[in-house]
Amino acid sequence: MDGSNLKLQHGRATRAIHAGYEPADADGAISPPVHFSSSFSFASAADARDAFTGDRPAHIYTRISNPTLDLLERRMASLEDAEAALAFASGMGAITSTLWSLVQPGDEIVTDLTLYGSTFAFLHHGLARFGVTISPTDLSVQKGLDVIAARRPRLVYFESPANPNMRLVDITAVSAAAREAGALSVVDSTYATPCLTRPITLGADVVLHSATKYLCGHGDALGGIAAGRRELIDTIRMTGLKDMTGAAMAPFNAMMILRGLKTLDLRMERHSANAEIVARWLSHHPVVAAVAFPGLGDFPQRALAERQMDRPGGMIAFELTGGLDAGSALMDRLMLIRRAVSLGDTDSLIQHPASMTHSTYTPEERARFGIGEGLIRLSVGLEDPADIIADLEQAMPAI
Ligand SMILES: *Cc1c(COP(=O)(O)O)cnc(C)c1O
Repeated sequence: MDGSNLKLQHGRATRAIHAGYEPADADGAISPPVHFSSSFSFASAADARDAFTGDRPAHIYTRISNPTLDLLERRMASLEDAEAALAFASGMGAITSTLWSLVQPGDEIVTDLTLYGSTFAFLHHGLARFGVTISPTDLSVQKGLDVIAARRPRLVYFESPANPNMRLVDITAVSAAAREAGALSVVDSTYATPCLTRPITLGADVVLHSATKYLCGHGDALGGIAAGRRELIDTIRMTGLKDMTGAAMAPFNAMMILRGLKTLDLRMERHSANAEIVARWLSHHPVVAAVAFPGLGDFPQRALAERQMDRPGGMIAFELTGGLDAGSALMDRLMLIRRAVSLGDTDSLIQHPASMTHSTYTPEERARFGIGEGLIRLSVGLEDPADIIADLEQAMPAI
């Protein structure tokens, strides 16, 4: 069952629960069986040969494919309105496997200015060592589109919303500019999830996720996803994943993420509603200097947010008037909100990007790429919003 019937007829909340699986295929089990096997047997030597030549589609080894990973992949392809998807051990596994598959020495990647810390490090300290040119460019303005047209890179890479400062990139405009320049567009949509934004529908070639975050949703499994055209996903599977990184997802993690997906739509609705209440409260607090949240009326890219995102999501970036010292003091006084990296969990999590997730940048790079030293990143969880606000309130510095 490929669940394609569901893709056409049903809404995203329904597909998150059903796509790709029919209980009739597994003795009526409502909850799909989990295949922990690392390899799969062949009926005969000829059967094995046909599996390796690709003449007969078959599972061979779990680093390449596995029935449980296959279900997660089909479900994610359905949610992203993509032809195919591929699961990885982590978000970084998805990012590195995808880029290793699609670029070679001499190629250029135009990236947006703001990227997740390990992505930034992989590009600038990893791929750059192998003869790939990395060109950071502000993709949120027309000038960035002109750079794509002028440089005609192999690939354009960006996040929307960007981690950690919430900058948005117009996926439709940048993907169109990339296509015109003969470049592939690859977007990390971890913050948005398919419930808020569908990058493939907007024209992107590949959409990436750290499934560790909202897709899993409970902070108990790492994972990554890539989705796009079948031909691209097949290439990433058979080169980047199989022969380069080997970053295959464990079947157990696929089970955890399939479970998380069942409530994704519901959770994104509540994450967004809670974050909106918290962001509004922060924006009125006298010691808060700035709040970046796509749901606020004064968000600088409000029109794009309304066009590209069904909801504002659960992530907030803010800065206190006292800068880094005030932010650190706030973090130390919190009692309910956890001081931790990661995001998209049921639990509210807070962190300081400059000293934590984005310490892979030098201070000069952070200044250049729009990551403030005093910026605090808050992943608003599913607790009662009044309790999240009460915790922030008691921890705020005196006016
Ligand atoms: C966390 C994150 C990653 C990396 O994912 P892992 O699952 O931690 O490897 C990549 N991109 C973004 C936007 C992230 O938030």
